[in-house]
Amino acid sequence: MRATVTRTRDDLRQILGRIDGRGYPAYKDIAGSYDFGSFVLAIDHVQGDPFAAPSRLRIIMAPARMQLPDWAAATPLRRTATADWLLRRFHRAAGAAAARRGSGKSGLITVDRPGQEILPRTACVVHPHRVEVRFFAGLPAAGRRILGRQAIEMLCQDVPRLVETALVLKPGDHRDLERHVAVAEDQAALREALAEHGLVAFVGDGAILPRESGVSDRPLRGPRVIPFTAPDSLAVELDTPHRGKVRGLGIPRGVTLIVGGGYHGKSTLLRALARGVYDHIPGDGRELVVTDPTAVKIRAEDGRRIEQVDISPFIRNLPFDADTRRFSTDEASGSTSQAANIMEALELGARVLLIDEDTSATNFMIRDRRMQALVSKDREPITPFIDRVRALFRDRGVSSILVVGGAGDYLDVADTVIRMDAYRAQDATAEAREVAARFPTGRIAEDPGPFPPVPQRVPLPASLDPRRGAKVKIRAHGTDEITFGVEEIDLSAVEQLVDPSQTRAVGAMIRYMTGRYLDGRRTLREALEALYAELDEHGLDRVSPFPTPAGDLALPRLFEVGAAINRLRSLRVEVRGPAVGEDSRGHTS
Ligand code: ADP
Ligand code: MG
Repeated sequence: MRATVTRTRDDLRQILGRIDGRGYPAYKDIAGSYDFGSFVLAIDHVQGDPFAAPSRLRIIMAPARMQLPDWAAATPLRRTATADWLLRRFHRAAGAAAARRGSGKSGLITVDRPGQEILPRTACVVHPHRVEVRFFAGLPAAGRRILGRQAIEMLCQDVPRLVETALVLKPGDHRDLERHVAVAEDQAALREALAEHGLVAFVGDGAILPRESGVSDRPLRGPRVIPFTAPDSLAVELDTPHRGKVRGLGIPRGVTLIVGGGYHGKSTLLRALARGVYDHIPGDGRELVVTDPTAVKIRAEDGRRIEQVDISPFIRNLPFDADTRRFSTDEASGSTSQAANIMEALELGARVLLIDEDTSATNFMIRDRRMQALVSKDREPITPFIDRVRALFRDRGVSSILVVGGAGDYLDVADTVIRMDAYRAQDATAEAREVAARFPTGRIAEDPGPFPPVPQRVPLPASLDPRRGAKVKIRAHGTDEITFGVEEIDLSAVEQLVDPSQTRAVGAMIRYMTGRYLDGRRTLREALEALYAELDEHGLDRVSPFPTPAGDLALPRLFEVGAAINRLRSLRVEVRGPAVGEDSRGHTS
């Protein structure tokens, strides 16, 4: 890398002096790499005018120059955690150094801002022998005239100072970095320990689950916050590499209910579990909350499009004979959308479903005795989730964690019942069994037999076209929407997409997959698995649409990328039926 850099900081200073006062396009002259002594500054893309998207730059530095200890880059997870730690420091320092220097975004240095999670990102990448920070800079101008002197200040003075403050470790910094890495390693170890203990989730004692507000993912603070404590009968102890044994609630495989009065913390617990697929930073409060990495939050999502999804395990015999083994609609109902969300999650390999009554379709979840009597079975297409949840576990090995405040019929199908009482968790399993025996619901179980294997679908490449007119157009909007060609993908119901940079990555990943893995032969799952295998080896940089990656992507899970493809309204698929002998209609006559 370094060998190819022949120009220095003085050369950059000279060029900037020379183009001072000229028209903005003359900035193009500074593209290239410059040796700054302790690091290389690469100017990868120069913006066309002061109001355009800012220029893209990289700092390339040797770990030894940063005083980065060897252990910090010794494993992939450590590299991710170290990169996250460095990026947060860089972001803080860039914010403190911010100075406007002219029109538009002149003088601004910005960098991707991580939230509460530790995610692989393109903004900072730690390799064993090289660290890169990718950031954005608004090159200074007055109107459209280059402010060369301000540019010299910004690039030749501020940037080196930023590097010095944020990227070069002082003796006291090592402890903080160590803690950051340790917290990530502990979470990974806990998540890995789940399976061997027969668990699908773990909530450590002392965890702070509630968040500051609906728009802030930071922990709620104050005297009224109740830290989590596991009831003895559901408590387990798991080993961590850095904290030793930690005690907490172990949620076993099977069917688990979270019950309790309104406003007693049920949804808060479930939301924390949904986020437990990610690692959290020290101080977040959820550092000891981990969930099976394949857990998918499921909800009703009426209005979404569905493309040939087999929802027949839940819904069949719709009016006008709509085929529910290959169900398509441009506007799903609450129940059909929830059924499709489950089947799509299973198709991609989910082993745990997280469902909150608050965001479910009632008729999908339950049909009580009276409704069974009033509307005869042959007039009701829906087999409610309550009649499938056991088969889902027995036949497909898929566990469910359900928040249930109203539908007591669910007590009949639960293995474990956690009661939230004023934010304190209790084991109500035995009591629930008693109650279920004492108050029979009279409900007729509508068990339609085994839960069939889920057919795989092959996306047709022509249906994934990112072009609008002659140009490729993919743009992410927050965590809720992606513009993809002429389509808008609505992701507002995809709750485990938690970072705008993940959403950007989803767009980039879909584009990368088209023509490569989405080839009309691979199933959606095969295509995603092939992509993730590649990213595992080569990093997220791979999907960057630019030759030198921009620092604005964060890694989403396979499930969320799949969810976005499934919500693309133009998507068309071919269904790969289950193998012979696994007839999905096996249980109908
Ligand atoms: P439920 O789903 O049982 O109706 P929520 O989970 O929505 O209740 O929680 C209700 C309110 O209580 C929320 O504002 C939440 O932030 C707050 N809350 C949740 N858990 C705690 C806790 N451990 N300590 C303090 N407040 C909490
Ligand atoms: Mg709730």
